[in-house]
Amino acid sequence: MNNDFTFSIIKPNAVRTGKTGPILAMINEGGFEIAAMRLVKMTLSQAESFYMVHKERPFFEGLVEFMTSGPVVVLILKRENAVEAFRKLIGATNPAKAEPGTIRKTFAVSVQMNAVHGSDSPENAANEANFFFSGIERFF
Ligand code: UDP
Ligand code: MG
Repeated sequence: MNNDFTFSIIKPNAVRTGKTGPILAMINEGGFEIAAMRLVKMTLSQAESFYMVHKERPFFEGLVEFMTSGPVVVLILKRENAVEAFRKLIGATNPAKAEPGTIRKTFAVSVQMNAVHGSDSPENAANEANFFFSGIERFF
């Protein structure tokens, strides 16, 4: 996977409150095509593996509990310079610091429940996409 792709998750708070459609619309309006998409409810061990890089952080336990609290939408997104462009579209981790018009500014309710995940590098995008999707599910 090259830098034309990134990986995203619409987090449980956003799915639960009916924001999946509006968030997908913002993603499309941001110039991204949906290359793969699935609704999944992660197990605790899946969420722990996905966020392994954060396992020593004080927010880790709360984060995996939150991410397993309901279904999430996992996505592979296609666009030129996708990783950087998507991080810009979602805004800062802390919604209080996110730019107006970003997905997190619009839909986050807290630092933890910040509506969406976006990969932070092309390498992590590839790893994260492989975590959730098999080759046959990728229509690009
Ligand atoms: N998070 C949290 N408390 C913090 C920092 C992060 O609950 O103080 C959560 C938040 O949901 C964030 C995720 O952990 O999206 C991963 O953190 P990271 O620093 O990778 O932020 P991101 O890459 O999602 O902007
Ligand atoms: Mg991150």
